[in-house]
Amino acid sequence: MRTSLLLVFCFFVMASCANAQRSNTNASHKNNPYYSRTDTTPLHVSNAEWKKVLPAEVYDIARMKGTEYAYSGEYYKTDEKGTYYCFACGNKLFRSTGKFASTCGWPSFFETIRPNAAKYTPDNSHGMERTEVTCGRCGAHLGHLFDDGPPPSYKRYCMNSLVLEFVPDAHK
Ligand code: FE
Repeated sequence: MRTSLLLVFCFFVMASCANAQRSNTNASHKNNPYYSRTDTTPLHVSNAEWKKVLPAEVYDIARMKGTEYAYSGEYYKTDEKGTYYCFACGNKLFRSTGKFASTCGWPSFFETIRPNAAKYTPDNSHGMERTEVTCGRCGAHLGHLFDDGPPPSYKRYCMNSLVLEFVPDAHK
């Protein structure tokens, strides 16, 4: 009897967690008039405006060029089939087929879904010579590009989970 009560309790806790996560994501996009998975028109939106429509942790990375802690993000171990979109604007960025298992602690890809999905800028901050990767539509900071990836591109797109949104193929 005690075991079945415990199982029922666990079921309700798990169900409420899943719902809270989903409604939070929906609420974020509902308040974001710039979000679209189909409109590819480049966006020119001020940081003051992004601050109003993005969750604080997304804004810190997308607009303030922050970095999430290694191994802290939602997607560094994800190997499900699906598509990764920019969380800020909905721009299609990566397919799961372009992702590879990396030990660096951030989701890593060897190619974008199409050539102009992202933009690239030299970044000499923090005493390092790196290439910054930004969203091709909204300019959100996504992460950095390195030359130590696997074939065929030998590139490693080292991305922040917080600025990505993964949509499994089954949920399209
Ligand atoms: Fe974007």
